[in-house]
Amino acid sequence: MTARLLDGAATAAVIKEEVRARVRELEAQSRRPGLGVLLVGDDPASAVYVRSKTRACAELGIHHETRTLPAGASTAGVVEVVEDYNRRPEIHGILVQLPLPPQVDRARVLDLVDPNKDVDGFHPENVGRLVQKRPRFVPCTPAGIMELLTRSGIAVAGRRAVVLGRSDIVGRPMALLLTHADATVTVCHSRTPDLVAVTREADILVAAIGKAGLVRAEHVKAGAVVVDVGMNRIEDPQEARGLVDEKRMVDFARKGYVLVGDVHAPSVVEVASALTPVPGGVGPLTIALLMKNTVAAAARG
Ligand code: NAP
Repeated sequence: MTARLLDGAATAAVIKEEVRARVRELEAQSRRPGLGVLLVGDDPASAVYVRSKTRACAELGIHHETRTLPAGASTAGVVEVVEDYNRRPEIHGILVQLPLPPQVDRARVLDLVDPNKDVDGFHPENVGRLVQKRPRFVPCTPAGIMELLTRSGIAVAGRRAVVLGRSDIVGRPMALLLTHADATVTVCHSRTPDLVAVTREADILVAAIGKAGLVRAEHVKAGAVVVDVGMNRIEDPQEARGLVDEKRMVDFARKGYVLVGDVHAPSVVEVASALTPVPGGVGPLTIALLMKNTVAAAARG
C-alpha cells in the first residue's frame, strides 16, 4: 500500500479563504480583527514562526502588531506587554510566542492573557472548557489536525487513536479532541514501555514528540492514518540521508538543512493508508487555525 498524502497546505488554504470572507463581514461592521504578538528573545525558529503568522494576518486583512523584547527580558516586562494587549479593544487575540526565556515565569504570563483573547487556547479557563467539551479557543495545532481529518473524510468515531506525546500544546489537547470525537484514545510518552505494541493498535496515529523519524513502518498498523506533527531541522548530511528520500536530499544540498517530522516517511508511506507530509502537512494548518481563532475572538466582541 502507498499512503495518500493529506495535503495540509491545501486544506489550510481553504480555511484561510473562509476566514478572509469572515474578516470582510466583520470589517463591514467596523470590527476589523486584530492580533497582538509578543516575541521574547532571538530564537531563530520562533522568529520564523512569528513571521509566518503575521504574514498570514496581512494576507487575510487581519490587523497585527508585534512587540519584541530582548532575551534578557524580565517577567514584569513581559507582563506589561500582555496587560497592554488585554486592555486595547482593537486587539482581539493575543499570541505569546513560546518558548519564553527561562527567567520568565511562563505560567504567570499565560495565566494573565485575557481568556477571551487567548487565541492559542493555553489559558487554564480555556483548557478547562475544552476538558468539559464546551470549548472556547482550542490550541491551534490539534484543532487544525481535527479539521484536516474531517475535511479529508477520515472517520474518527469508534476508531482506535494513539497520540504520541502529552504536551500542553499538542499531545494533551489532541487526545481530548479525539476523545470528544468518539475515538478510543491512548496517550504515549517517554515512559511508555513497548511503544511499538501500543502504536500498532492505532487506526489513527498522531506523532508529536520532537524526535526525527522515530515512528517507522514497524510502529504502524497496515492501513492506519498517520499524522506527523514533528518539525525537526536536520543539518547533518549523514542523518538526513537516513531520514529522507533522494529527492529531498536535493533540497538538502541546496539549503544545507532539511525539515523532517517525527515519522520516517519513506518507510511509513508504504504501510499507512494516509500520511501528512513534512513540510506541508500540519504546519500550515496551525497558522490557519490561529487566524480562525482570531476572527472568532473578534466576532465574539
Ligand atoms: P514537547 O513539549 O517537547 O513534548 C514532547 C512529548 O513527546 C512529551 O510528552 C514527551 O514525553 C514525548 N516523548 C519524547 N520522546 C519520546 C519517545 N521516545 N517516545 C514517546 N514519547 C516521547 O513537544 P511539543 O511542543 O508537543 O512538540 C512536539 C513536536 O511537534 C516538535 O517537533 C515540535 O516542533 C512540533 N510542533 C509542530 C507544530 C506544527 O505546527 N507543525 C506545532 C507544535 C509543535 P514526556 O512527557 O514523558 O517528556
